[in-house]
Amino acid sequence: MNIPFSGGCACGSIRYTCAHEPVAMINCHCRDCQLSSGAPFASGIVVMTADVEITGTPKTYSVRAGSGSLTARSFCADCGTPLFTRGEANPGFMSIRFPSLDQPSEFQPMLDIWTSSARQWVCLDQAIPQFPQSPQQPSELEA
Ligand SMILES: [Zn+2]
Ligand SMILES: [Zn+2]
Repeated sequence: MNIPFSGGCACGSIRYTCAHEPVAMINCHCRDCQLSSGAPFASGIVVMTADVEITGTPKTYSVRAGSGSLTARSFCADCGTPLFTRGEANPGFMSIRFPSLDQPSEFQPMLDIWTSSARQWVCLDQAIPQFPQSPQQPSELEA
């Protein structure tokens, strides 16, 4: 991945840049990610919150994620693009939704989590690890 990397929402109201290499890249199949993405799963890039600079003001709502911890989801109020996720248990980390990347081809998922709620018609990549729930710190890894 080229560093820094950047991205933004569909209408351009919100932009971001991240100064350092991601911590992880994850596909999350939990029900909350399905709802907030409008897709069978959400793909996210986990980074250090301090490394991300955001311009514009996303709208945020908080939900209990599959892990049980409170998770704040941010999206563009103008165009609806899902953008960021932060978990209350680990505010030092955040997740960026991969479709918002300026170079989405650079997203390479490293693991699938919450596959216990994955749709049966979703083809999982057998070359990467799968976890029925979250492998460790759920709020760090929630996409
Ligand atoms: Zn927008
Ligand atoms: Zn999830």
